[in-house]
Amino acid sequence: MAAQQTVEHKYVYDFAEGNKDLKDLLGGKGANLAEMNNLGLPVPPGFTITTEACKAYLATGSEPDGLADQIEAHLQALERTMGRRLGDPDDPLLVSVRSGAKFSMPGMMETVLNVGLNDRSVVGLARQASGADQAASGGADRFAWDSYRRLIQMFGKTVCEVPGEEFEHALDEVKRAKGTHNDLDLDADDLRGLVDAYKKIFAKHTGREFPQEPREQLDLAIRAVFDSWNADRAVLYRRQERIPADLGTAVNVVSMVFGNLGPDSGTGVAFTRDPGSGAQGIYGDYLANAQGEDVVAGIRNTVPLQQLEQLDKKSYDELLGIMARLEQHYKDLCDIEFTIERGKLWMLQTRVGKRTAAAAFVIAGQLVDEGLIDLDEALHRVNGAQLAQLMFPRFQFDHGIQPVAKGIGASPGAASGKVVFTSARAVELAAQGESVILVRRETNPDDLNGMIAAQGILTSRGGKTSHAAVVARGMGKTCVSGADELDVNVPAKRFTVGGQVVDEGDLVSIDGTTGLVYLGEVPVMPSEVVQYFEGELDPERTDDALVRAVHRIMTHADATRRLRVRTNADTGADAARARRFGAEGIGLCRTEHMFLGDRRELVERLILAGTDAEREDALAALLPLQRADFIEIFREMDGLPVTVRLIDPPLHEFLPPLEQLAVNVAVAQERGEDVAKEEALLAAVRRMHEENPMLGLRGVRLGLVIPGLFAMQVRAIAEAAVEVTRAGGSACPEIMVPLVGAVQELETVRVEAEKIIAEVVGDSGVEVLIGTMIEVPRAALTAGQIAEAAEFFSFGTNDLTQMGWGFSRDDVEGAFFWRYLELGIFGISPFESIDTDGVGRLVRIATEEGRAARPGLKLGVCGEHGGDPDSVHFFHEVGLDYVSCSPFRVPVARLEAGRAVVSSTGSDSR
Ligand code: ADP
Ligand code: MG
Ligand code: MG
Repeated sequence: MAAQQTVEHKYVYDFAEGNKDLKDLLGGKGANLAEMNNLGLPVPPGFTITTEACKAYLATGSEPDGLADQIEAHLQALERTMGRRLGDPDDPLLVSVRSGAKFSMPGMMETVLNVGLNDRSVVGLARQASGADQAASGGADRFAWDSYRRLIQMFGKTVCEVPGEEFEHALDEVKRAKGTHNDLDLDADDLRGLVDAYKKIFAKHTGREFPQEPREQLDLAIRAVFDSWNADRAVLYRRQERIPADLGTAVNVVSMVFGNLGPDSGTGVAFTRDPGSGAQGIYGDYLANAQGEDVVAGIRNTVPLQQLEQLDKKSYDELLGIMARLEQHYKDLCDIEFTIERGKLWMLQTRVGKRTAAAAFVIAGQLVDEGLIDLDEALHRVNGAQLAQLMFPRFQFDHGIQPVAKGIGASPGAASGKVVFTSARAVELAAQGESVILVRRETNPDDLNGMIAAQGILTSRGGKTSHAAVVARGMGKTCVSGADELDVNVPAKRFTVGGQVVDEGDLVSIDGTTGLVYLGEVPVMPSEVVQYFEGELDPERTDDALVRAVHRIMTHADATRRLRVRTNADTGADAARARRFGAEGIGLCRTEHMFLGDRRELVERLILAGTDAEREDALAALLPLQRADFIEIFREMDGLPVTVRLIDPPLHEFLPPLEQLAVNVAVAQERGEDVAKEEALLAAVRRMHEENPMLGLRGVRLGLVIPGLFAMQVRAIAEAAVEVTRAGGSACPEIMVPLVGAVQELETVRVEAEKIIAEVVGDSGVEVLIGTMIEVPRAALTAGQIAEAAEFFSFGTNDLTQMGWGFSRDDVEGAFFWRYLELGIFGISPFESIDTDGVGRLVRIATEEGRAARPGLKLGVCGEHGGDPDSVHFFHEVGLDYVSCSPFRVPVARLEAGRAVVSSTGSDSR
């Protein structure tokens, strides 16, 4: 047999072998640990097992060939570096086993600290900690047993699925026996006892003893990290954040450093700028004599990082230096985790930090000023979802309601709602349309469903970096954390604050910017950003850093983008607002509403018309009303194009519903009243009833069946345009025919329309374009033919999605979309973000074939996708001329259209 050369797959990387650009392979945590190591920062030695290993494991259910050997080799190298062996009874090396995926998923994946401790090495660890100093041995014993009980607890919970409360209860029990609330009051004997209790809990739930073999602990922990990729809450978080399901997680094995070695040790988290507002300065929380997870979990109340200066000036100065260095290096806000072991600083994690929407804009602006990034990069670093968030209303300034507590403004926004204490109740009430505030002492990953359902989150413990704070910011949800005046009693479903009792169902309001908590409902006001878009705040004069940053970045987006942005508006008021928000025309003016209200009666006359004369009469009465509607809109959009869609929905939608009409007729007949008219109406409604109205007599079909209907609308549009133009304005109407599937339909409408237009327009100079929606798949597929009769196309991607997928939107979203999302058939509803492979392909085909047939064909999109960030990028790429969206989405579309230009070259922004 020929010698076969097997190239072994490299599954394990020493920190010295990685760098920050290897996130796909090493995960964010591993790549950044390697990067810090390469920068010469104090990182405890360790290695990273790749996402490839995880994927291979998840695919087959067992560790891939070669992995065990590579881990062994790296472990031995680590042992040599540290001069200690894993779990050595005399002088043990301990490690942490930490998950780390490409995208940070706070609290989602599991970490186990102190791996390598057992009944024998715990004694060695105590000896190691006391060193030569005999006097320190009491503290060292305490430390060693505390570390051991933490291992059993974390290992039990995350590796073996032992219910975490059981450990919590046992700990509370020991504290109670000791008469204390503070875990620091427990001595070595207490903790030794606790270890015994924990071991019993472990054995009870797993049917085996706590594993004493260090290497077995390590292997089981690594496996658990792999498995946790598919834990329910990780799957849920990924879906929320649109993180692909197949990335896998890396596993980091890091030699332990100890923040729980006494008062000169501790652990903390920090941001290089305020992740809430973007303000410059140092932000963070520090906790003395504690191990890492204590800070994040908000177990004890932390002190602000600044106080570290008094506690340990040397470490504080070093930390500040490192933070400045990291910002320069990453050219962005960084968040970090660190531990101080007896006065020696260790860096345990860094990443480009999550931030609020406001901070994203402010920081991007600052970094441009500081010369670290250019405006293109600044534009790339913010996004439309953040801008949309900043346009939400917030509490009025002078509402006069006294706050009852002040916590930490962990994630901005204003939220009011009914108090709930459990995730389940939050989900239940939200499903009934209630807005709820989830109140907890602190949240944990199991609360994720409730956090998604809630309007806001309020906790009594934890800082800006607690689970609640981090997850809420990620979701763009209002959150106040650490409101410690609140005494939260979850089992009793109530909290007390300043002597007042608040029960489940009572109203509270929270301000995620100031951290203030109010009882009752506080009135809200529009955001500054909206005031700026409205032209009420001068960006050159205001001292509002956010408004200045938004203005600067929006200006750059407008200068950069190729796509134009129009709005969907049917009234003068909407048109005017959209114009202030930057709309460059109307892409969709629906004429439906013009048939409602007191005009219903005319529609009834139209439908019931027995003769041509009666019908023409009704249309003649509608004409001046329509004309007046268009005049108002053309005035507001002076000089800009206005696409008017001829009537689209089936006419019976303008009549009373069948049942109601039938009841009215029956009742009136009973009373012996004259019901001739109602009966005729009822008969018409019955006649016009459709099994599938979305696919029935609507759009162009209606125009071809009811003589004079489209003609009246065309005349109203042309007359309005002439009137506005004669008055010195400039109207640029574009008449859009809905639901066209064949060029013959459009041609028929065009012949009639052109005659009317020629007659009305005369020598006024008004130019009227005629085009069509592309919303029936057949239209997309015959776009080359249709373009012969159309001066423009506007993609109606809502209908195109309905008919492309065969989904009746109103039916499918509630009925089975959740299942499709769960199964990953699509990652996001195709009504929310365009399905680029299928529906998008129809858009592509129509674009190419339409332009081939008619160079210069104007192409746009109307429908909700026009304001969806991902879809805007797609439309840019396909080469449309414009997108059209609702007035409030116009700034979002402007921003994203600019980002579409710079993002193709930019770095990963998540
Ligand atoms: P998460 O992603 O949830 O923050 P981490 O893996 O970062 O999980 O670890 C949880 C906590 O344990 C963090 O506070 C971290 O700083 C701390 N930690 C992790 N590894 C070590 C280590 N080798 N020595 C000391 N503390 C550690
Ligand atoms: Mg961490
Ligand atoms: Mg449509």
